[in-house]
Amino acid sequence: MAQWPIPPDLHSEIEGGPFCPFHEHSLGSRDGRIPRYNDSHACVRCVSALTEGRLSLDVHKIHKNYRRRFLEFWSFVEIREPDECWEWHGNTHSKSNSTYFAMPRHWSRARQYSAPRVAFWFTWGDIGRLPIKPVCGNNHCCNPLHWRAKGVPHYHVNRHMQKIDLEFSSNKLQHETQLFLETTLERDPKRFEKLQKANKLWIDFRLNSDKPVQIEDLIRAAAKEQGLNP
Ligand SMILES: [Zn+2]
Ligand SMILES: [Zn+2]
Repeated sequence: MAQWPIPPDLHSEIEGGPFCPFHEHSLGSRDGRIPRYNDSHACVRCVSALTEGRLSLDVHKIHKNYRRRFLEFWSFVEIREPDECWEWHGNTHSKSNSTYFAMPRHWSRARQYSAPRVAFWFTWGDIGRLPIKPVCGNNHCCNPLHWRAKGVPHYHVNRHMQKIDLEFSSNKLQHETQLFLETTLERDPKRFEKLQKANKLWIDFRLNSDKPVQIEDLIRAAAKEQGLNP
């Protein structure tokens, strides 16, 4: 999808808009709306968190309306070390080889967005339609540390701390997505089937592994699968 062109007077007006994924940002909202910039549709509080270099991978900070989507999304990401690329194992358009994940947003009729954009929304915050670019050059990468939003300054206050923090929270997220997949399989087999449809091999692999994902295991699993179904 074409990038949204940043206007010269970016973020000069604020209006009320729907909740963002971070539940703290809707605390105290009486009318079910939160402050958003009227051009990018970014959440004002998310933008200030981003400017200060704060990010989060914690499902407990996610608003309940977004939690299932959050866990579904991260179930498809190969979460690795903070300085490695995190590959996407969910849906991709075969023609353009671009990633996508279903997530309706209020400003557009589009029903799906690129995986890195969703990763950005769920970690750095809801930056609306601000353009993003990868510093690692990998357009499929979902590691939030590898992406920058245009139009907003990023002050990485303490990169070292951030990495330690990310290592801790990404391990937690591994377990949470694992638990999510197990629970979905048990209680909502139809939805589970839908998840499997995106990438059966990957979902089955996630379900059978209680360790952090190793790509070597995945390759072995793929080889085995091919061996079984020649
Ligand atoms: Zn927000
Ligand atoms: Zn990367």
